[in-house]
Amino acid sequence: MLLARHEWQRAAAAEAILSQRHRNAPPQLIASSTDAQVRREDDDERRLRRFYADTDLLSQPDTLRRYLFAPMPDYLAPLAWYGLADDLTSAARVDQNALRYVAPPSDTLPYFERAKAYDPLCGGLIHEGVHAQQQALSWRHPNPIRRHHYDSLPTEGIAFYHEEMTLLGGLFDDRPHSATRIANFLRLRALRAELDVLLALGEITLAQASDRLVRTVRSIADGRARRRRARRHAGGAAVELPGWKTADSRPPGGRAAALGHGFRPRPIPRSAVAGRQRAARLTTLGIAGGIRPY
Ligand SMILES: [Zn+2]
Repeated sequence: MLLARHEWQRAAAAEAILSQRHRNAPPQLIASSTDAQVRREDDDERRLRRFYADTDLLSQPDTLRRYLFAPMPDYLAPLAWYGLADDLTSAARVDQNALRYVAPPSDTLPYFERAKAYDPLCGGLIHEGVHAQQQALSWRHPNPIRRHHYDSLPTEGIAFYHEEMTLLGGLFDDRPHSATRIANFLRLRALRAELDVLLALGEITLAQASDRLVRTVRSIADGRARRRRARRHAGGAAVELPGWKTADSRPPGGRAAALGHGFRPRPIPRSAVAGRQRAARLTTLGIAGGIRPY
């Protein structure tokens, strides 16, 4: 709880500062059509790869498949509210591009979908795209026990960390509204962890958790998405988000303190990204040793 509150305070301060810094920025425009959004995401996917290389913050193999948006198929649209409408492929299709299906851009879309309609990097490439590529890297892992998915929580920590890393690394320097929105994401994720504990203890109801998300983060307007988000908390999952994010910040933070100006971030080695979640969960279960999950 203390970690979650600390993260929440940091994110709230960052959002306030960014909002003040960019107060005179011209309004951000929503994509004019699904096709325009899909084309922009394609460009942004290449831009993100160049950003990794130019800043030397992360490496990806050139052979790694792409993460792309595609128009929502009619057959999928009625089910899309229930989860993420995507095809991240599988171990047998690891070289095929991952697809994220998007609805026509609109201000009435749920929180993260609306963010993607304004900027495909937001909530798309820098979070769900990270999940997709981590999954692909895992499927390519030489050790079969590390290829498959048992628990997504360490993955969430990596994506949560990745959002802040790209914000601090300058990816959004020319997209001021997106920078502020990323800070809002960080605030939401930190709050989810606290609500997770309160729900588990029976101190609040799902409806109260849902209302508090809206009141505290302010940007979640869609009731159905709010209830779905709150219901996910009941599984006891979000509580681990700040923990895993902090765990992912610790190695680069420690090296930076030790090496000062000689420090080169590349915070999470590719091998760790590919294998972390499996090793951690197997250790928790007492099946494999050597890596402590916390
Ligand atoms: Zn995620």
